[in-house]
Amino acid sequence: MNFQGKRALIIEDEEEIREILNFYLQNEGLEVEEASSGEEGIQRAQKANFDFVVTDLSMPGMKGEKVIEILKTMPGVGKIVVSTGSLKFEESLVDGTLFKPFNKDDVIAMLNKLFS
Ligand SMILES: [Mg+2]
Repeated sequence: MNFQGKRALIIEDEEEIREILNFYLQNEGLEVEEASSGEEGIQRAQKANFDFVVTDLSMPGMKGEKVIEILKTMPGVGKIVVSTGSLKFEESLVDGTLFKPFNKDDVIAMLNKLFS
């Protein structure tokens, strides 16, 4: 499947995780923006449209649950994916879940699920 030109927003407080996810997504041809906090992520989603947003749950400041609640009200936001390690999240509330630690194949599987 070709994801060329799809726009993604990564909301994640851990820099290394943001960078590796960004790398995997760009390798698949996506255009990627990063935000290091929920607050920054919401600001970015107000300024531009995204085919999907992947957000961490556990972050300083605004928690992922609140980020998701706000993203769901925003018309420019397509699919929403939760990225989580140990924290549980009600998967029916989002379009996908990316379990940490993830690898390239996990990310590609997530994209296929989202856009097939
Ligand atoms: Mg975190």
